[in-house]
Amino acid sequence: MPLQSLVADPRASRRNDRQVDPRGRCVVYWMQRAQRGLDNPALDAAVTAANALGLPLVVHLGLVPFYPGANWRHYAFLVQGLDATARMVRQRGAAFCLRPYPGHSLIDFCRQVRPALVVGDENPLRVPERWRQIVAARLGVSLFTVDADVVVPSVYLAKEEWAARTIRPKITRLLERFLVPGDDPVCRVPWPFGAEPESHGTDESALAAMLAAWPLDRSVGPVVRWVGGTPAGLARLAAFLRDGLAQYPRRHGLAHVPEGTSRLSPYLHFGHLGPRAVALAVRDAEAPLEARQAFLEQLIVRRELAVNFCARNSDYDGWRGLPAWGRRTLEAHAADPRDPTYDIEELEAARTHDPLWNAAQTQMVRDGFMHNHLRMYWAKQILAWTPDPGRAQQIAIRLNDRWSLDGRDPNGYAGIAWSIGGRHDRPWAPERPIFGMVRAMTLASTSRKFDWRALVSQVQSLPPA
Ligand SMILES: Cc1cc2nc3c(=O)[nH]c(=O)nc-3n(C[C@H](O)[C@H](O)[C@H](O)COP(=O)(O)OP(=O)(O)OC[C@H]3O[C@@H](n4cnc5c(N)ncnc54)[C@H](O)[C@@H]3O)c2cc1C
Repeated sequence: MPLQSLVADPRASRRNDRQVDPRGRCVVYWMQRAQRGLDNPALDAAVTAANALGLPLVVHLGLVPFYPGANWRHYAFLVQGLDATARMVRQRGAAFCLRPYPGHSLIDFCRQVRPALVVGDENPLRVPERWRQIVAARLGVSLFTVDADVVVPSVYLAKEEWAARTIRPKITRLLERFLVPGDDPVCRVPWPFGAEPESHGTDESALAAMLAAWPLDRSVGPVVRWVGGTPAGLARLAAFLRDGLAQYPRRHGLAHVPEGTSRLSPYLHFGHLGPRAVALAVRDAEAPLEARQAFLEQLIVRRELAVNFCARNSDYDGWRGLPAWGRRTLEAHAADPRDPTYDIEELEAARTHDPLWNAAQTQMVRDGFMHNHLRMYWAKQILAWTPDPGRAQQIAIRLNDRWSLDGRDPNGYAGIAWSIGGRHDRPWAPERPIFGMVRAMTLASTSRKFDWRALVSQVQSLPPA
């Protein structure tokens, strides 16, 4: 059977020049980002390949305690998804195998189960991409990866896009092809009962014991109000469709109204929900067209603009990731006096003179979340209060990645590059101190847009982190 026809999915990319091993005993799906058993195009492609070869499928999920920037808060949310994912994978006839550190190696796993080929998923950030490249070089069999966490696969957007207005028509043209429900295929050759490769337990106590034994950064604790996993994500989506979507255009700028937006970003970040199923549920919901379009603009156009930025710009989290005009104008104003200035410790402890900024920072620390409009304001004030704009970008990334449940995500790097350096934005006149031509936001202009005092009092009532 020709190799390409095994993984015929248009989202799939071939990652090495190895062949299918005709003596292979199974197909392996290397689950990295798309940690779910439903609406997962990478899992679907792996099932389809296994069925074509007449082989069983095993899903391998390796977990390590040293993923860059990940702390106890992130791992606690991630592991809450594993039991349901394992169950859904098994319902589709595949084995599920959780292999935590130090036994996490995919290469060792493949030596044990001897696959005919391996299918993985993708995300555009550099560390998991480096891991994929290492695995592709070391695997003795063919590796395909499938872009499972976007609606339109990144490969169809080959160049770095300038702004939402340039990516929107390209995405729109491809929606008819890619915004279609997956069929969640089932394995025709189930894994032989009782002969599953050894897996760490996915129940709550086994995972709690695993995390307790790991050398994690425990200075950032779990947020009890947030529960990770596909079932919790689907429940949140259902609540948003029922109570939030119809009013989304009117309320999504109101940072003091928690249900004004979906709060799905942590579920999308950890792959507990796929954007395709969310988009289809919204597209087909009984809500005004304007509301559905406004939401899909954020979920598809803005989110996939961020993915495109990280996939096509290797400096997505660095100074050179800002557009040339943004760097130029910030450099021209680098010597402008800042008053006051704060260092990262003062910022992290929310010890500034600005009550709205302090509330935003405190919300992120205590709740692991911050509203989009506040995030823009929050990042822009870091620029206003930091002597060096490059340092401001790094502080914003450090704090967002550390405290936000959805941090360490393309959306975060793009959002910070937008706020601080004008990425995906345009130059704004008149030129201002410190910001130059980068769009500025002030306390006066931002706090007029919503009831900021209500937000401050909500944040004060959150339990401490
Ligand atoms: C400085 C800054 C930092 C940010 N950091 C992150 C981050 O770490 N992780 C993260 O997921 N998002 C980040 N964003 C983007 C955005 O703020 C969040 O995605 C959004 O607030 C999540 O809330 P929600 O799920 O309720 O959004 P909704 O309004 O319900 O939107 C639905 C989905 O659309 C996507 N989306 C919404 N707004 C944007 C946007 N502006 N850009 C890209 N995608 C968007 C998200 O996936 C979101 O879950 C950041 C934005 C800024 C300005």
